[in-house]
Amino acid sequence: VALLFYSSVLSGEAWVRALRAESPELDIRLLPDIGDPDEIDCVLSWRPPPGTFARLKNLRLVYGTGAGVDQLLADPELPPDVPIVRVVDDAQTDDMVAFVLAIVLGWHRKLDVIRAQQAAKLWSRPPFRSVRDVRVGVMGLGALGRATAERLAMVGFDVAGWNRSPRDIPGVEVHHGPDGLGAFLARTECLIVLLPLTDATRDILNADLFARLPPGAYLVSVGRGPHLVEADLLRALDQGQLSGATLDVFREEPLPQDHLFWTHPKITVTPHVASLASPESVAKQIVENLRRLYAGEPLLNQIDRVAGY
Ligand code: NDP
Repeated sequence: VALLFYSSVLSGEAWVRALRAESPELDIRLLPDIGDPDEIDCVLSWRPPPGTFARLKNLRLVYGTGAGVDQLLADPELPPDVPIVRVVDDAQTDDMVAFVLAIVLGWHRKLDVIRAQQAAKLWSRPPFRSVRDVRVGVMGLGALGRATAERLAMVGFDVAGWNRSPRDIPGVEVHHGPDGLGAFLARTECLIVLLPLTDATRDILNADLFARLPPGAYLVSVGRGPHLVEADLLRALDQGQLSGATLDVFREEPLPQDHLFWTHPKITVTPHVASLASPESVAKQIVENLRRLYAGEPLLNQIDRVAGY
């Protein structure tokens, strides 16, 4: 098996180390010396540079190094019939949950207000609300969203979720489909977005959606940047329809230096750090999937190319 690591943004060394530790016999190729392209069976990639796939005539598997595959599917040269697999990883899930908890708890307990008060040596208690009275909502109840909703509920928040298909999650009020969206939004004071980026979810965070949230709601956007209509967010913040937002993902990454979000007083910018699949944690499932590929067994975490996730 020859596996090519190909990415325009990630260095491959940690992946090579982790994969060699898991499977010493694996033939791993790295740029610029990929050897004979006809020998490459599998590409492991994040944001492949243009021209990647056109060179690889015998490709049998494309492996994304993260949970989202939108950057792979956007490649016009992606061969139509090759299976695409993504990462689903418990450690990555734990890290996403921890990140969202940090943001939601900080928002709920008004840590930014308290820090500003400390700078002014001001002893003043913000209005108190019990965690049990605070209604948070998670859009997208997949591997990451479900765990996030469950653990927000364990902390004590009043949690709802919205998903394409129904879900049964103890302690979480689940809404689904376009018909369920209105009731979900109407009760959600803090909206956490963990949807994949697809044709159906692009631009979903727009003026119409913000208007259906209670006035003063807070947004936590951790799925993908193109979910958000940026001008609509700025207007909703100016008008007070939203009270603030933490954004971890952006239409253009890195966020351009002159972007308004950097200095907006109601926006917290985090540089796509919510969670990252680590090579050490993921190497085992890659090797297992290669074994399955050659044994003709069903692959783990294969995405549905029509649905786009
Ligand atoms: P999954 O594929 O496991 O889950 C996606 C969920 O979204 C599914 O439950 C699916 O419902 C639901 N969904 C999809 N389309 C729609 C729709 N149109 N309307 C309502 N619900 C929909 O993905 P993960 O949970 O693993 O990851 C989610 C996303 O998080 C990734 O795609 C990635 O973009 C982002 N991410 C961000 C990171 C960061 O650091 N900021 C790190 C990792 C991931 P159903 O199953 O019913 O189809």
